[in-house]
Amino acid sequence: MIDAQLLKTAYLWTPAALLHNTGTHVENLKRAETLRPEKIRSELAQNVIYEEPGNHDALTWVHTVHPREYTEWVERVCAKGGGLLDEGDTHVCPTSMQAALGAVDAALAAADRVMSGAARNAFCAIRPPGHHALIDRAMGFCIFATISILARYLQRKHNIKKVAIVDFDVHHGNGTQDIFYEDPSVLVVSMQQYPLWPMSGLPDETGDGPGEGFTINIAVPPGTSEDAQLAMFEDVALPALRKFAPELLLISAGFDAHRDDPLADLNLTEAGYEQMTRQLMDIAADHCGQRIISLLEGGYQLDHLHSCVIAHVNTLATHRNPGQVAK
Ligand SMILES: [Zn+2]
Repeated sequence: MIDAQLLKTAYLWTPAALLHNTGTHVENLKRAETLRPEKIRSELAQNVIYEEPGNHDALTWVHTVHPREYTEWVERVCAKGGGLLDEGDTHVCPTSMQAALGAVDAALAAADRVMSGAARNAFCAIRPPGHHALIDRAMGFCIFATISILARYLQRKHNIKKVAIVDFDVHHGNGTQDIFYEDPSVLVVSMQQYPLWPMSGLPDETGDGPGEGFTINIAVPPGTSEDAQLAMFEDVALPALRKFAPELLLISAGFDAHRDDPLADLNLTEAGYEQMTRQLMDIAADHCGQRIISLLEGGYQLDHLHSCVIAHVNTLATHRNPGQVAK
């Protein structure tokens, strides 16, 4: 019998996150600074353990999703001193490639911790984010599709067959959706404000070919109350996840649906993120041996990014599903 008090949550943060210097851009170094273990430790539960990323050959795993031509091009732009990777808003500096690889490395290290049983779940406080990156194109502050690379790593290195990705960032996880659109082994459930950039993620986007039915979208109108949004999550996301019965649950944890975030118009609070986290943990307890790996995506109001991460990680560390209580 496992003593529930000994269950650990791994918190991964890497100094590589500080190598992606975007100046005064909204997705900037301060996001990583505010989540440094030494800044957040006193507010996190006792059973959170602080882990260093490993020494994975991250680039090899990046190539399970992105073609070599794309990663070489990113490298060239960085080597020339940086610039814009897309027509929009994805800037890089000379060391951004190392930062993006560092984020992947942290995610893979989290996978190893959770799969070895050293932690029952993990949160990676990483940047740049990844869920908008397409197979051969940067997009929306994202260089590499970190959560998709993590899903492939779990499948190929750890023999996990069915992975579910839940994305509650306020923007549609369009990159993740594209990568797995025809793949029934990865269920992608994304909840976003609609309309909002990138203007995709409607409920009729459901997957294609063998992947038909394995993409689920929840489009939340701007101004929706927290209660109404949480009810949509409960009504659509949770039954789909239970039906799929994943072996491991991944979260694209963006905190920009918070009511004070400057980039969108939804009304979640720290309590709402805690509720969704508990619900996902209950599903993970029933289907995944409790295994959850959560990766930071967006969240741009620094005080609330900090408090939402604390709420999410403390829930991951302390919530006990009904079967565990009183053991
Ligand atoms: Zn976002």
